[in-house]
Amino acid sequence: MKKIEINSTHNKEAINEILEISGERIQDCMQCGKCSAGCPASESMDLLPHQAIRLLQLGQLDRLKESNTIWICASCFTCGQRCPREVDLSKLMEAVRLTIIRRVGASKLKADDVPNLLDNKIPQQAIVSAFRKHHK
Ligand code: SF4
Ligand code: SF4
Repeated sequence: MKKIEINSTHNKEAINEILEISGERIQDCMQCGKCSAGCPASESMDLLPHQAIRLLQLGQLDRLKESNTIWICASCFTCGQRCPREVDLSKLMEAVRLTIIRRVGASKLKADDVPNLLDNKIPQQAIVSAFRKHHK
């Protein structure tokens, strides 16, 4: 059986940051798959939503960051509404995106840099989802 590497120190720090940003409890997910079954964007994703949260549980953050799923997610909140354990996956997706964006150029994103990044360097989805998050 293939050995799964769990939680490198680097990933632990990054995952703790994701949990802090999102405020979600990934350990509550029981892998029922209801989020994936209701996700309107799942057909275009290379990892289904319940697989994405499983990777977070296993500390496999690099695999999640390489997937298109975090950028395809439309922050529609359907998954959170369907989850029997009240895990809001859309907030986790947003937090993963933020941890990537904040490290553009191996440093935190500065407010002064934002106008320069709007010419297709930040995925449009990240901007739209951040807007939704702050205008609910
Ligand atoms: S619906 Fe909730 S408990 Fe079920 S797999 Fe998705 S996140 Fe986990
Ligand atoms: S918020 Fe994202 S992952 Fe959740 S149902 Fe909507 S598109 Fe799918």
